[in-house]
Amino acid sequence: MAIIRLPLHDACLQTERMCSSCTMKIKEGRVLDWEVELLKVLLKISKMLRVEGEYVYKSSTIIGSTLYIILEGNRIEGLEDLLRENLNLRGVSRIRVLYYNGRLEDLLEKIYGQRILGVSRVYTADGTTTLIVKVEKEDIGAEKLASALLKTRIITQTEKPLKQYTTKKKRQLDIKKILEEIT
Ligand SMILES: [Zn+2]
Repeated sequence: MAIIRLPLHDACLQTERMCSSCTMKIKEGRVLDWEVELLKVLLKISKMLRVEGEYVYKSSTIIGSTLYIILEGNRIEGLEDLLRENLNLRGVSRIRVLYYNGRLEDLLEKIYGQRILGVSRVYTADGTTTLIVKVEKEDIGAEKLASALLKTRIITQTEKPLKQYTTKKKRQLDIKKILEEIT
């Protein structure tokens, strides 16, 4: 059985009466109503899975008719099928689970489907933050998805990777080595 750490208590998800801490999370919108249904199903499924290990539920969002879920941990074979069989969310016809290793760059790489050249966080006076994500190719769909999943504003900037620089540097080192060998 896999352990999936969820934002609401297991005991609260199993009963109809939630504790004050879980109730507050729902009231404040940190956990949405449809998300509660998803968490209940995830808890149920985690007991049926024959994989070992610990997972952390990070976030989820519905875009169009697709439900996206972020899990920290290794890929679980068949989880999407189990979710489809057990979860009945209005308007959702596709489910995609994105796995990542706990690092923000890795998560963004999974969302954008391309190499992340840089990430920086900008703090604004009103207390909100904006993530600046640098990639090679612009992708408005990925930006929208990342923004919804990370619950933050995101600006995507494109730039050329520093590939040429690294090859040049390597070659220079090689020449130096050769010179050392000759002299
Ligand atoms: Zn609780």
